[in-house]
Amino acid sequence: MAAGTAAKGGSSVVLLEKMPSLGKKLLITGQGRCNITNNLEVKKFIADCGPRARFLFGPLTRFGFEATLKFFEELGLKTKLERGGRYFPESDSSRDVLEALERYLSAGKVRVITNARVTGIRKEREGFSVTAGTEVYKSARLIIAAGGKSYPGTGSTGDGYSWASALGHTVTALKPSDVPLNVKEDFVKELQGLSLKNAELTFARGSKKIKYFGEMLFTHYGISGPIVLDASRAVGPWLDDGPVDCRLDLKPALDEETLNRRLQREIVESGKKTFKIFIKEYLPAKLIPVFIKLCGISEDLRVNQLNAGQRKKVIELLKDIRFTVTSLRGFDEAVVTAGGVDADQIDQATMGSKKIKGLYFCGEILDLDGPCGGYNLQIAWSTGFLAGKSSGEK
Ligand SMILES: Cc1cc2nc3c(=O)[nH]c(=O)nc-3n(C[C@H](O)[C@H](O)[C@H](O)COP(=O)(O)OP(=O)(O)OC[C@H]3O[C@@H](n4cnc5c(N)ncnc54)[C@H](O)[C@@H]3O)c2cc1C
Repeated sequence: MAAGTAAKGGSSVVLLEKMPSLGKKLLITGQGRCNITNNLEVKKFIADCGPRARFLFGPLTRFGFEATLKFFEELGLKTKLERGGRYFPESDSSRDVLEALERYLSAGKVRVITNARVTGIRKEREGFSVTAGTEVYKSARLIIAAGGKSYPGTGSTGDGYSWASALGHTVTALKPSDVPLNVKEDFVKELQGLSLKNAELTFARGSKKIKYFGEMLFTHYGISGPIVLDASRAVGPWLDDGPVDCRLDLKPALDEETLNRRLQREIVESGKKTFKIFIKEYLPAKLIPVFIKLCGISEDLRVNQLNAGQRKKVIELLKDIRFTVTSLRGFDEAVVTAGGVDADQIDQATMGSKKIKGLYFCGEILDLDGPCGGYNLQIAWSTGFLAGKSSGEK
């Protein structure tokens, strides 16, 4: 986005990419479908991203989701709107998004050099010199768009942070974000592969508490899935102070009263069933052995023999399975990197550095990030557009 836009402004542009081809990360976005953006109004978008995202007011106002959709449409990419205001390419293929951007680069005659790993950047008296392999490139202006350090196999290994700090910028603490969570209890790991569509998770540490409703997944280390990735944004900082309690409500639509009445009624109707068969009505198959273990009730007990205490325990566990989140998973599994080049040192009207004239930053390298759902790419499109536009102007 930045390179193509700078070229459109009339500049002669060279794009250095260390990988053999462009956009490796873009290709894996949205599970290969690329959630390009979302249709949230600027205020809501910023609120969802957190307090630092106030910076985005300028970039999103200049180049928001409507401009992004128009931009791609002009490049021949058709998009479609899905649930939750999310936009995807009509073809469901992230490759089509990448190819649209490649057409943009060709139209601007951007010289794309792949397998060109930048190893050093120097500020010269006039402009910059950039070393990649045995080559040194000189330029009047420079845009650093090297991404964060999540999913390093895509090329985003965080190289840009050291250049930014060597050039006098503050790089705030880096953390994996939109990332799965490690859990202490072994019973959670026994549920590996189980996905729950309508779960409610409540995370708490001290007086802090936050709830999420939706889809989650159990894994060999703990929990993942959309609501867990979202939760990691809030829970991540809490984990700096120690483990975080997590409570899973398997029946969020029913309160304990209603659940109790239903249980009593069904016990009467199916009194001779064993507990193991009876509980199938309430739980996905994979959860049954673990649930029975947590209840401490014999699986062969006839349900009409459940005593009041045992019935209470069943209800309690349907509404409240407790476990402990110990840490975030690593950058290898994080959708995005939280932290980065301090946005206070960047001019939000141009994406130019306030420290060094002619230097620009855009995308995930900045201390800006959002939840899953088209936020992070929109941040890249908006800041990339501005960086390209202002650096490319003669
Ligand atoms: C699995 C996954 C799914 C995602 N899905 C979505 C989604 O659907 N929607 C959404 O909005 N966001 C999504 N994201 C987040 C989004 O992909 C990123 O935030 C976005 O790609 C950041 O763009 P960027 O251009 O700043 O950085 P990147 O896309 O990381 O690009 C940086 C580029 O710089 C190159 N580079 C790095 N160091 C050097 C060097 N030393 N020399 C030369 N080149 C270098 C890299 O090879 C890379 O090509 C997803 C992320 C992941 C990991």
